[in-house]
Amino acid sequence: MARPSPKPDAAALSRLLLDARGRTLAYAGDLSGEQLLGPKLPIVNPPLWEIGHVGWFQEHWCLRHRPGRSPAPSLIADADALYDSALVPHDARWSLPLPDLDRTLGYLARVMERVLDRLDREGDADFLRYFVQLAAFHEEMHCEAFTYTRQTLGYRPAARDAVAAAAVASGPWAGDVEVPGGEFLLGAAPDGEGFVFDNEKWAHRVNVAPFRIARAPVTNVEFAAFVENAGYRRRELWSRAGWSWCERAGAEAPVYWNRRDGGWTQRCYDGVRPLRPHEPVIHVSWFEADAYCRWAGRRLPTEAEWEFAAAGVPAAAGEKKAYPWGEAPPVPERANLFGVLDACADVGAFAKGDSAWGCRQMVGNVWEWTADWFGPYPGFVRDPYREYSEPWFGNHKVLRGGCYATRAAVLRNTWRNFYTPDRRDVFAGFRTCAA
Ligand code: FE
Repeated sequence: MARPSPKPDAAALSRLLLDARGRTLAYAGDLSGEQLLGPKLPIVNPPLWEIGHVGWFQEHWCLRHRPGRSPAPSLIADADALYDSALVPHDARWSLPLPDLDRTLGYLARVMERVLDRLDREGDADFLRYFVQLAAFHEEMHCEAFTYTRQTLGYRPAARDAVAAAAVASGPWAGDVEVPGGEFLLGAAPDGEGFVFDNEKWAHRVNVAPFRIARAPVTNVEFAAFVENAGYRRRELWSRAGWSWCERAGAEAPVYWNRRDGGWTQRCYDGVRPLRPHEPVIHVSWFEADAYCRWAGRRLPTEAEWEFAAAGVPAAAGEKKAYPWGEAPPVPERANLFGVLDACADVGAFAKGDSAWGCRQMVGNVWEWTADWFGPYPGFVRDPYREYSEPWFGNHKVLRGGCYATRAAVLRNTWRNFYTPDRRDVFAGFRTCAA
């Protein structure tokens, strides 16, 4: 099972860092005034803090980290007390003595300069290669968070998203594909040279029963039928936790939907537009996905089923592909990831990215909720960044596949994302399996 990414050299690593930084500046560095702190909500960070935090993280792992010893001093005073996400409680982040935006960006620039220097000197060192990728991917994940934060708070889209009106209309992509099941290696293969997170390690045998899975994620028009059939008012369609979430949230439809003139509109950033019927439903919680499934007589795929449908190869048991279409990294024709449309496309689009079984958009467009709780694979050992996975085992649900705001370099079929089941601010939709 070949992995696509050979060991990146110093130039490729520098590019990863600079790409992520360009995005931080575009998606958060343009905020001003009150937007830099924003409202105190459990689902967002104050952007000014979050910008400093990505610089702190890069400095911590790429410059200050000394295995077995305490970290070397930071370039700025009180760096850990300000920006260490494991130390600073979420709701304290609004009341810290944070440097202003100019000084924060100055800190980020000085850290970057030193990391690039170090890459020049030590770019062949495995430990530096690992931590540079960790820092770049961490920053990309925060950039996705900057993006959904702008949506949550109704800010104008970042400059590049202004062109998102050119979304791809290619209609629905209905129906199921049949996957025969069998033995499957779930997780990342230890023989690869690419970067993997601790929670993907390692590939292990699971037995998957035959299943039927949708060729595409659930669309807006499909989800609207659930809403209009009183889906949010029928207790029997919801799990106990889901119903209590539904009541607490006062949910009656997906969070950004509004009824107008007998149809639906959807708020996108600071604008409102008619709901596009064949785009995947997005910004739905796991609870909403689960209730929809009960209504439709369907179910969410397990993680293993999802990965089987994305990575498995018919008539080649045990073989696994890095991406739905094969081993080559994502290109714009195959997957709607960051920088392609910067908005959702219809579920019929991106046919060149189909998996071997005929599932479309398993990578890109929207994250897909799975049935499973996020947990360790057998033999789990945490990596140096201890807080990445382990604290979230057991109370987060797994999502797969990335979305239009996910950087291609971060993703692969085995990548596991995770959010609590109540989150509907993130770019999450779902596909279903026959029950
Ligand atoms: Fe972080």
